[in-house]
Amino acid sequence: MNDHDDPAAQLAQALGPLIGQRVPGGCEDCDAYRTVKRDAQHRRMWHVTVHHDDTCPQFRQMR
Ligand SMILES: [Zn+2]
Repeated sequence: MNDHDDPAAQLAQALGPLIGQRVPGGCEDCDAYRTVKRDAQHRRMWHVTVHHDDTCPQFRQMR
């Protein structure tokens, strides 16, 4: 199996460059940004976190 057929490898290729960056978007109600992290234990797993503005209505609903 080469990288082209492996969804995990494709994901790593897409998300790898975004590690440590703030990716704009992720919320329609505020100026949110996303951060990408690779799971320390499961290298094929990724964590994408959306960071909302303090004033975001969606963010307030979650609290
Ligand atoms: Zn938001």
